[in-house]
Amino acid sequence: MAVKLAIDGGIPVREKQLPYGHQWVDDDDIAAVVEVFRSDWFTTGPKVDEFERAFADFVGEKQAVAVSSGTAALHAAMYAIGIGLGDEVIVPPMTFAASANCAVFQGGMPVFSDVDPDTLLLDPNQVEAKITPRTKAIIAVDYAGQPCDYDVLLAIANRHDLRLVADACHALGGSYKGRPVGTLADLNVFSFHPVKPITTGEGGMITTDDPKLADRMRVFRNHGITTDHRQRELQGSWFYEMVDLGYNYRLTDIQCALGISQLRKLPAWVARRQKIARRYDAAFAEIPAVRPLGVREDVSHAYHLYVIRLDLAQLRATRADVFAALRAEGIGVNVHYIPVHLHPFYRERFGTGPGICPVAEDAYEHIITLPIFPRMSEDDISDVIAAVHKVMEAYSQ
Ligand SMILES: *Cc1c(COP(=O)(O)O)cnc(C)c1O
Repeated sequence: MAVKLAIDGGIPVREKQLPYGHQWVDDDDIAAVVEVFRSDWFTTGPKVDEFERAFADFVGEKQAVAVSSGTAALHAAMYAIGIGLGDEVIVPPMTFAASANCAVFQGGMPVFSDVDPDTLLLDPNQVEAKITPRTKAIIAVDYAGQPCDYDVLLAIANRHDLRLVADACHALGGSYKGRPVGTLADLNVFSFHPVKPITTGEGGMITTDDPKLADRMRVFRNHGITTDHRQRELQGSWFYEMVDLGYNYRLTDIQCALGISQLRKLPAWVARRQKIARRYDAAFAEIPAVRPLGVREDVSHAYHLYVIRLDLAQLRATRADVFAALRAEGIGVNVHYIPVHLHPFYRERFGTGPGICPVAEDAYEHIITLPIFPRMSEDDISDVIAAVHKVMEAYSQ
């Protein structure tokens, strides 16, 4: 007889809900921010250059451009490579909506291409069939923190004269065939939202080896103006020119100081995420109805998310039941993601809907994201494992 689930009135595994992700801010992060409060520059000052340099050096890329969010970073990337009216951009549906929205911001059209059933990463074998004379770019999403198969994607992009953009918002600190995330595509996009690998509150970054693309994005983040106010002050001049339509996508010095401080901790945090993942892997190998996603041998996975797939045929429950039961046990599970092409906006604007990407649609019915973040204690990890065991036992056929 299995123990009574919390959702049926039993005692929960833990009282306080464990979130699926959480930031980690220390005294030295706080001190770094306070130092900026005491300085002359709150925005577009020296901390921006310092963060960009530190970030570029960390990933081993030539240029890094700081912006106000991951979404702004994606938008800037689309602008930099010249996405315009009617241009098609290939993107997987198993991602956050912003990965596709960025093409729409520029008047372009996302073309959804299905994912690999084992990894839920963009399936390179299906990309070529989606290419038309209007295709300009491929956006590869490093879902959950696992880098995509960039050698294959780059070969496809080169063969068809397309730009390759990496939405690496999940994968900072990971690598592919020994090459760091941030160097793998023409443009590589990051987010510093609190659940992401490092945080600046809100924030984003694009890395590239192309100084022209970097310059275009620096103008784009500042209203399309060619000089910033610090450059004008240095030159003692009031003159500026707006050369294109841009936005205010600047990241403040306050946030950049936090980013510099957070970046120092990233290697230890990624190692910690990987260690948590190993404990989960070992524990769930014993539960037949739970299957982790596939991880290729040639990558170092950054584990922004730890996603399990439920074999519903072995359970007397739906994914929604399992989700609710785990939440009741105090485990803040989540679902990443509702396939983007199923959202009402895309159905109405672009006529997408079920059937376009069957692998992603089927995966969506079976996946649950478990908590994973560096600050989790060993007891927290044990609670997650205990709750999954408890719920699976109660619901197994
Ligand atoms: C978080 C995220 C974004 C958007 O980043 P924001 O900083 O929240 O704007 C884009 N793509 C993916 C895959 C993300 O996880």
